[in-house]
Amino acid sequence: MRNIVAGNWKSNKLLKEGEELIADINHGMPSLRKTDVIVAPPAPYLAHYAANGSKSSHVMLSAQQCSVNSAGAHTGEFTAEMLKSCGVNHVIIGHSERRDRFGETYEVVRNKVKEAVTANLHVLLCCGESLAVREEQGHFELIAEQLKDALMHIGPELMANITIAYEPIWAIGTGVTATADQAQEMHQFIRKQLTSSYDSKIAKATRILYGGSCKPSNADEIFGKPDVNGGLIGGAALDAESFLALISASEAS
Ligand code: PEP
Repeated sequence: MRNIVAGNWKSNKLLKEGEELIADINHGMPSLRKTDVIVAPPAPYLAHYAANGSKSSHVMLSAQQCSVNSAGAHTGEFTAEMLKSCGVNHVIIGHSERRDRFGETYEVVRNKVKEAVTANLHVLLCCGESLAVREEQGHFELIAEQLKDALMHIGPELMANITIAYEPIWAIGTGVTATADQAQEMHQFIRKQLTSSYDSKIAKATRILYGGSCKPSNADEIFGKPDVNGGLIGGAALDAESFLALISASEAS
C-alpha cells in the first residue's frame, strides 16, 4: 500500500506564494517509490493550480472541505462536484477546526463524506479527540463513534475512496506530538474498527494517516510504525524544505 503525505495549508499563502511552494516541492521531490503527495491549498486557488500545474507535477490537489449540499441556492458554498470539475481529486472532511469552529456536526460530516464520494473525490476523513477526552480515557470510544457515524453511508465498495487521518486535537498546531506508540495504538484500533465494520481486507487496504505537529524531527519514528501510512501535515507543510523532509521520511519508512 502506498503512503500519503498531505499538506493542509489552512488559510495561509497567497496565490503566487502557493505556486512557488508547489514548484519548490516538485523541484526537490525525491523519486517516489511509495508515497502519494497531496497539498490542500485555500479553495480559491485550486482551479488555477490544477490548470497551470505542469504535467510532470507529482503533487496532487485536495480541497480543505466541501459543501454538504449539491448544486442549488446555497450562496458562498462550493460543491464536491465543482471541485471535481476543477481537476481536484481529494477533499479533507471532518477536520477538527471545521468541527469546532464552524459547527460541523456528525450529521454534516457524514453527509459531506457522502457528497464527496458520490462526486468521485477521494476523502481524507479526520477524526481525533480533545485533551479532556483523552485524560478521561474516552479516546477509543470517541474515535470509534466518529468513524462509524462518518462512514454510515459508505458501503464496502466505496471504501477505496476513503483515507482516515487520526489527528488528536491536543497535538494540532500545539507543537505537542502524540508519541509514536500512542499513534500506533490508535491506528491499530482504527484498523480493528474497520475490520469489524467491513472486513480485514478493507481494513488492511485503508490508509491511516497521523496528523498533529508532525515534523521532520519526529516523522521517522511515527511513519515507521506498522499501522501509520503517512501524515496529514499542517505547519510543516508551509515550507518546502520541511515538507520534502517529511516526504523523504515516508519514502524511508
Ligand atoms: C492539521 O491541522 O491537520 C495539522 C496536522 O496541523 P499541524 O501539523 O500544524 O499540527
